[in-house]
Amino acid sequence: MPTQTIYTLIKQLFTKKATNPFPVKYTPENMHDAAELIEKDELEINPPVDVPPNFRGKLKYDIESCIGCQLCVKVCPSQALVFKEDNTVRHYVNRCTFCGQCVDICPTDSFEFTDEFLMAGPEKLYEDLVLNP
Ligand code: SF4
Ligand code: SF4
Repeated sequence: MPTQTIYTLIKQLFTKKATNPFPVKYTPENMHDAAELIEKDELEINPPVDVPPNFRGKLKYDIESCIGCQLCVKVCPSQALVFKEDNTVRHYVNRCTFCGQCVDICPTDSFEFTDEFLMAGPEKLYEDLVLNP
């Protein structure tokens, strides 16, 4: 058993890491200050590792192809989708569980997952987190 543990530890020393330090390469003294510097383009974000195929990142909504059938609204388990009076859909990203049901059921492929996973914002209703507000 100890042999297996030692083997695993040694193997991990030479295995490519699945994660990396984020948002910057080295832990800053103050994360708030670092975030402000990043916003001013004075500090570079450590590029995240690549996402795997079929990654469920932030959804993309194609308003042009949407026919307003509301199927996505009906299947969404977290009330992240709200039907609007103009026959389109509003998507609250911060309520989304990324289950993919809206993507699967949409007859016009108006919803698709992207590779984007950086979705933190300064406020609860950060406007980037509402698609088609
Ligand atoms: S991925 Fe799931 S939770 Fe998110 S909007 Fe679509 S159906 Fe709702
Ligand atoms: S299922 Fe597709 S076409 Fe229907 S309302 Fe939702 S996004 Fe639009």
